[in-house]
Amino acid sequence: MLFRNAKTAIFMSRTRRARSSGGSMLKFKNMVSDVKLVVQLQELDNRIRELQHEAASLPRHIGAIEKTLESHVRRLEANRAALAANQRERKQLEADIQSQEQKISKLRDQMLQAKTNEQYGAFRHEIEFCEKEIRKHEDRILERMSESEPLEQNVKAAEAALLKEKQQVEAEKSAARERTAGDKRQLDEIKQRRAEMVKTVTPSIYSEYERIRKGRKGIAVAEAVDGSCSACHMTLRLQFFQDLRLDERVMFCESCGRIMFYTPPPAEVDELGPGAQGESPSVETNP
Ligand SMILES: [Zn+2]
Repeated sequence: MLFRNAKTAIFMSRTRRARSSGGSMLKFKNMVSDVKLVVQLQELDNRIRELQHEAASLPRHIGAIEKTLESHVRRLEANRAALAANQRERKQLEADIQSQEQKISKLRDQMLQAKTNEQYGAFRHEIEFCEKEIRKHEDRILERMSESEPLEQNVKAAEAALLKEKQQVEAEKSAARERTAGDKRQLDEIKQRRAEMVKTVTPSIYSEYERIRKGRKGIAVAEAVDGSCSACHMTLRLQFFQDLRLDERVMFCESCGRIMFYTPPPAEVDELGPGAQGESPSVETNP
């Protein structure tokens, strides 16, 4: 306990120096610090949430581009299969033509030995039939050839595109791996900073912060802007707003229950105390 107090005291003196505030702040320094600390804690928690969200979305993104790649691979395989089937059919047709030609030459031999006009006519008829078959086969070969041209072009184009796509997917995967590793390092570092910060927050305030954060979709603090809560947009009572501005106690939005904070405009800081000199942005320093 003693250790904690000493640590808090060191932190307070640091905070006070940073704000370079006068004696009027001393009375509320603990509470002011708690408000400031939970605001900083919220910033860290927001960053943690962002990083965790990214860590979860990267594998989904990689999964999606891998799935697209896979579908392109399958399409190429289908085109290759169609091309192979086309070539097989052409070979079969050529073989059929050859056997028809053999049949014709055999029929011609037989025709020479025909004894009657009827026999002769029958052989001639059969030869004509075979010749007709050959012409049909030749027509089909031409059809297959005209089909195979675009198929071959498709396959060639798809192979080139796929090669590029594979490289791209690999590059994205390695970028995602690097990103994930960087995110993890950042996450570890922020979590450590958070743990250190938590030690300096008054425990009851911290448990309130955590309770509100869990109940309010991760957002436990809200800034008072133009007399309203920036989270739930409820207009603050005038007295509440005055207290928030001047008392600097830990106060909760009467509507959504979040811890409220108020950032005085630079002019108001000047009014509140002499300490803000030199820190408040002047007209010259603004770009
Ligand atoms: Zn609110």
